Amino acid sequence: MRPIIVQENDNQEEVITQRLADLLNFSIQEIQEQYCDDTLPWVIGFSGGKDSTAVLQLVFTAISGLPVEKRVKEIHVLSNDTLVENPKVIEYLDRQLDLIRATGKTRLFAHNPALFHVVKTVPKLEDTFWLNLIGKGYPSPNRWFRWCTERMKINPTSDYILKTVNKHGKAIILLGTRKDESANRAASMKQYELEGVRLRKHTLPNAFVFAPIADMTNKQVWAYLTQNPNPWGGDNQELVRLYYSAFDIQECPLVIDTTTPSCGNSRFGCWTCTVVDKDKSMTGMILNGEEWMRPLLKFRDKLKDIRDKEEYREKRRRSGQDGIGPFTIETRKEILEELLTIQEQIYPKIQTQLISIQELSAIQVQWHYDGKFQYSVAEIYQRITGRSLMLSEYSSLERRQEEFALLESISEQNDVQANHIKELLELERVNFGHLRRSTIFANMEQKIRRFIKENDDATKDGFSFSLPQ
Ligand code: SF4
Repeated sequence: MRPIIVQENDNQEEVITQRLADLLNFSIQEIQEQYCDDTLPWVIGFSGGKDSTAVLQLVFTAISGLPVEKRVKEIHVLSNDTLVENPKVIEYLDRQLDLIRATGKTRLFAHNPALFHVVKTVPKLEDTFWLNLIGKGYPSPNRWFRWCTERMKINPTSDYILKTVNKHGKAIILLGTRKDESANRAASMKQYELEGVRLRKHTLPNAFVFAPIADMTNKQVWAYLTQNPNPWGGDNQELVRLYYSAFDIQECPLVIDTTTPSCGNSRFGCWTCTVVDKDKSMTGMILNGEEWMRPLLKFRDKLKDIRDKEEYREKRRRSGQDGIGPFTIETRKEILEELLTIQEQIYPKIQTQLISIQELSAIQVQWHYDGKFQYSVAEIYQRITGRSLMLSEYSSLERRQEEFALLESISEQNDVQANHIKELLELERVNFGHLRRSTIFANMEQKIRRFIKENDDATKDGFSFSLPQ
């Protein structure tokens, strides 16, 4: 029988403790039953926040209570890193993932470590924040043009879940969603209920949701985490301190579909998030002593501030239509310079990079693809950091293959041939820095004419386009 739920205003400590103990016993039993019910793999969404920590902690306790011969089904602990996560949060998350992996493989599944997976997904290179903002000039995201969530959060996790579903036919996703989060949350959980079973439908085909802490309140979650040792050797007090320092006890959930509440409204989202008016968590962390984060906050505020100022934007959209367009190349260059400057400033403190070499390389490719040849990423990098961007690395076969794969995917989306763009880029590369550019334009025109002819010959269906005069 489902135990009575503790109410938020129920303050009699003994009653809370007793009812919480009943609820936890019930949840652990439910998890054990569900685990043994079928052979479908479990994908446990883990953001490092309190709710997903509570779910994973309950799962660890439940599985360790099963005899080894019943621990036969795969478990995937799934996290996502947008690559612009709050540096303090991602550092905490990475440490937890290492501990979870080690404990899961050596204790829970010592008999068959291959059953236990810990995965951190990241967006594809062409979907990263910096490639879109600095490379393509997408204006900083806001409520109406939130181009980031799908690219950076939903797609990477959905791809992983779909891969698991494809391999096994179906999968069960465990989430830390709770009815008392909000009336909307309770309603959406109800909407997806399936009759007679504890699973809910998921928007991805053949995926089902199991929410083991659906009936727990906020207070109960904290009580559970602070009164019970963390089974993978983490320190839940550190989690409390992290929430406390961020001045807020909400969290960014693992966003796996559009029904998950807006991550932009949660506290532990991307440090670059301009969907929220103010980044309260970063502000809180700074006020609590993380002074080194101040340039990050200032930079985020600037990204928000300039997005709607026409002087920072092109006069045409990327589609070629009239209207306020992407950030100008000057703005993109300025953003890149500032980002690299901040990275240099804070690196001694956090030893993590705000932008990767791969992203820098992809930005250069994107600028070239957009016909923006005024600035060189390598030159900007050298000027700001005093280090070379390892041009040899760029020209290595592996790097070039990576760049070409990216170019291919961008070209496909825009219905052009990657080989043609590659030829034009190569022409620009060998002529880069030359003052007299008339030859390169003539050569380009010659090449473009050849491409048109090749296209015409290939299609023979009247396809044509003309060169701009
Ligand atoms: S936290 Fe903000 S920037 Fe990050 S994906 Fe969500 S809405 Fe976009």
